[in-house]
Amino acid sequence: MGDPQVPIDVDEKTGIWTTDGLPMIYLPRHFFINNQNVVEDAIGRAAYARQLYASGHKSAHSWCAHEAKVHGLTGMAVFHHYLKRLSQRGWAQFDGGSIDPETGCGEVRVKNSCFVLGNAENRPGKLCYLFTGCFPGALAWVAGESTDGPHTLTCEETRCANEGGGECVFEVRVG
Ligand SMILES: [Zn+2]
Repeated sequence: MGDPQVPIDVDEKTGIWTTDGLPMIYLPRHFFINNQNVVEDAIGRAAYARQLYASGHKSAHSWCAHEAKVHGLTGMAVFHHYLKRLSQRGWAQFDGGSIDPETGCGEVRVKNSCFVLGNAENRPGKLCYLFTGCFPGALAWVAGESTDGPHTLTCEETRCANEGGGECVFEVRVG
């Protein structure tokens, strides 16, 4: 076992956690997954996936804008820094090495997704739809597109470790 690889600051007065100046919440995985599952049950997986795509896209875009300033990063380095930080925060282990820096298209391969590892209810199918908006959102920032769109890229989880195969694959393409 190792120590966290992200810098974490805790405000002694307020108890607020921050990393690179961004407020963070540290929470049990089962609580997060339970939240996912109740919303999925209430409105359906497809509808919830559409909502999360939009929020993931927006959040990744603003995260990249913030982190680029903090670390003085530009272009695809920001996208790869984003995947590194997601990995260091325990969501999963992300590899975006096959994404074409010119077009933003390609695959993001994901191992040890929290949604697969935390699937205590043995739900079937592809579970990691929360991530689908995140990659095109970060790549939209790299391409200089605004958060409000129109956006060049879209993304789909084409394979999920929940269905076997040991890893999840997200395909980013023009859509
Ligand atoms: Zn998956």
